[in-house]
Amino acid sequence: MSTLPISSNFIRSIIDEDNQTGKWGGRVETRFPPEPNGYLHIGHAKSICLNFGLAKDYGGICHLRFDDTNPEKEAQEYVDAICDSVKWLGFDWGAHLYYASDYFEQLYEFAEYLIKQGKAYVDSLTADEIRQLRGTLNQPGKNSPYRDRTTEENLDLFRRMRAGEFPDGAHVLRAKIDMTSPNINMRDPVIYRIRHIHHHRTGDKWCIYPMYDFTHCISDALEHITHSLCTLEFEDHRSLYDWVLDQLDGQVPCHPQQIEFARLNLTYCVMSKRKLIELVEGHFVDGWDDPRMNTLAGVRRRGYTPESIRLFTERIGISKADSWIDMTVLEDCLRDDLNEHALRRIAVLKPLKLVIDNFPEDHEEECYAPNHPQKPEWGKRVLLLSKTVYIEQDDFMEVPSKGYFRLSPGAEVRLRYAYIVKCVSVVKNSQGEIEEIHCIYDPDTKSGTAGADSRKVKGNIHWLSAKHAQTAEIRIYDRLFSHPYPDAGDEDFKFHLNPYSKQTITAYLESSLFDAQPEQRFQFERHGYFVADCLDSKPGKPVFNRAVTLRDTWGKITKKV
Ligand code: ATP
Ligand code: MG
Repeated sequence: MSTLPISSNFIRSIIDEDNQTGKWGGRVETRFPPEPNGYLHIGHAKSICLNFGLAKDYGGICHLRFDDTNPEKEAQEYVDAICDSVKWLGFDWGAHLYYASDYFEQLYEFAEYLIKQGKAYVDSLTADEIRQLRGTLNQPGKNSPYRDRTTEENLDLFRRMRAGEFPDGAHVLRAKIDMTSPNINMRDPVIYRIRHIHHHRTGDKWCIYPMYDFTHCISDALEHITHSLCTLEFEDHRSLYDWVLDQLDGQVPCHPQQIEFARLNLTYCVMSKRKLIELVEGHFVDGWDDPRMNTLAGVRRRGYTPESIRLFTERIGISKADSWIDMTVLEDCLRDDLNEHALRRIAVLKPLKLVIDNFPEDHEEECYAPNHPQKPEWGKRVLLLSKTVYIEQDDFMEVPSKGYFRLSPGAEVRLRYAYIVKCVSVVKNSQGEIEEIHCIYDPDTKSGTAGADSRKVKGNIHWLSAKHAQTAEIRIYDRLFSHPYPDAGDEDFKFHLNPYSKQTITAYLESSLFDAQPEQRFQFERHGYFVADCLDSKPGKPVFNRAVTLRDTWGKITKKV
């Protein structure tokens, strides 16, 4: 768990005050209430860390509750994936796993109670007619002709709705509030509808389903939630939340306080399950856990750690004002985490052969590379040097540009952890392309020996011995969208998909990477942070995903690597 200092926010102030006044007897009980209609995204992480984080800090409890009132879009697969993601983020709901569908019977009883109190009625208008009578922001709504049905008639119809006597859409149950309210949510909102559809948990037991606004506040109350935290779009629903619980005063155990906070908006992402589903179903990505997806399953596969996501939510804080967070803030959290915790390793992504002419033919020489430059206690591993090595193509320029300090004809460079070499010739193929370069090495300059500092060179490049390195598949991922606000314009958000977001290459790896465990993360020196893919990588046959570059290079990437 993160040991960051707890940064204060307005929600903590409310809780502190409640604890002072004794409003909840010192209890703090929150909940994370996803609808199981897709995989969680990075926006949900903000809500998870907030709800579970507050409960933890105040010695309280946080529930995981599935808001499963919309059976046509919900599935067990999503329930399982959501549980996985919450656990992966490092949170534990203990015994507090709930489903709104477990309350269907109680919710039904409360609906009958409202009818009996004259606070709800069965409306037989069509959805269109209801919409027409609802009015607009500037115009009050009009009462439905069915609004004044008697309690007996309402009860009878509602019971027959439950009994399955009517087809979908024939009737709805509406709260009887005020069709002239300036708040449209209060204009007799629908609280039950008929849906002859199988529910992933209750099966075919029900053919009427309660609406979110009716279900949510009652679920909170039944679970003794104290602070019901939600995003700003529910601000206008708060009056309805309170209205329902006020009507049920004495029937439910408590009246939780709804508090809204600003949702997370992150550049280069789409933060809606509906749009994420579109990407999956349209095969624009390789599934929900595609490492380019901003789902939690996706960022996990990309190489993000739970610590980096928690650090991110801590850094962005909680506020009441909507804003955009730049993707680099998230990426920097991963860099900061992995800089500290990832082993350093060598990979050559775009190989160029370098032959050391004066190196003995079958000689192998041990060189020692630290596992972490700032952590000597992590030790060193052996890199074997031989006559032929691979370096990166980018580390050689036949005609060096100004300020280029790496290898070029006649120039000297250090082979990292080994010797200084000097380029003496270049071999080209019949098309004039460089095939290999030849160098001589200075045996008195080995790193870690007294002679290492005898001469200074500016370039310090990585390499791998050709006969010891092995090839592996590496997936170079970049941002899924090439536009910071992919869904802000009039055009389809998919128009902004980045065509270079995934490139698969074969690279050379140092041998110690070959037994990498799935999900093990490394810094490939000078390249970035990489993770052994959790599904495709096996010890002995690794497959790596690039999680993030070492620095923010976005904007400079305009072509293939
Ligand atoms: P989506 O449109 O992606 O389906 P949602 O709000 O409908 O999002 P829910 O499953 O209902 O998804 O959300 C569960 C909880 O997560 C809610 O309390 C919601 O307010 C919160 N949440 C959703 N998106 C964000 C976000 N971008 N930032 C912070 N919290 C969010
Ligand atoms: Mg939703």
